[in-house]
Amino acid sequence: MKNRFIREAALKKRLNISTQFDDSIETIHADGRRLKQILVNLLSNAVKFTPEGGNVGLEYVADPEGQAVHFTVWDSGIGISREDQQKLFQPFTQLDAGLSRKFSGSGLGLALVSRMTELHGGSVSVESPGVGEGTRFTVSLPWGAPTAIPKDRRPTEGTGADEEPEEAIEKFDLPLGGAAPLLLLAEDNEANIEIMSAYLQAKGYRLIVARNGQEAVDRAKQEHPDLILMDIQMPVMDGIEATRQIRDIPELTSTPIIAVTALAMEGDRERCLATGANEYLSKPVSLKNLTSIIQRLIHRESRP
Ligand code: MN
Repeated sequence: MKNRFIREAALKKRLNISTQFDDSIETIHADGRRLKQILVNLLSNAVKFTPEGGNVGLEYVADPEGQAVHFTVWDSGIGISREDQQKLFQPFTQLDAGLSRKFSGSGLGLALVSRMTELHGGSVSVESPGVGEGTRFTVSLPWGAPTAIPKDRRPTEGTGADEEPEEAIEKFDLPLGGAAPLLLLAEDNEANIEIMSAYLQAKGYRLIVARNGQEAVDRAKQEHPDLILMDIQMPVMDGIEATRQIRDIPELTSTPIIAVTALAMEGDRERCLATGANEYLSKPVSLKNLTSIIQRLIHRESRP
């Protein structure tokens, strides 16, 4: 899990992690999965950009006057220049190899943080005195929804104050509800999985991931997803063969399949469509375009 990844990376760099949680908050009502993604993204960035022996922290405070709750992830790391602070949250629209590479080291995670926070009705801000002087990212979520319920209006339970941040974050987990469409993402490239799954989950879809064609066939058979995103070049079994096998499963003959391939070779499109894919996209995929195709196909699926 990513949380463990953060912990291990932090240990390896001998970072001090401190947490400070507002005692007046007992429960936070939020989409737990998104909130967790937001904080995990910010924490991994903080760990990544803080040199050995430095400090990283997570805080949250209630702001009854502003009707908000503020989550801050801070570090004593390399800091961000004023110029770069402005570029940090620029949305990305394309998914390609260059961006995938940069994802591990730049603001792409932050664009997602910003998008997910907006979906929550909140906002993100960044403060850094300058290069070399650390950074504070603050995610502010509205309280009204309600986002947070003051402790005195709740039956008292254990306070989260001295728990590890992971456990404290876990506490916010709430079921997303069964209504969201279930997507199967068949993809073998970890960077693509990371970006696509964060993006699609931010869009409200539930997601299962298969890392090769055989796994895709097995998961499709077990889970009956509402739609399948099928990478073509995958180990063990490629996406063409997986699509063919899925079409042979009686319950899955009409499940929408979008073939996604990096090789935009002459005849690819026809080959994918002939195998039973409903749509064909070549990388780099525009995520905006992708979601509109997904919506259209699921819509068509539910209203024949
Ligand atoms: Mn691939």
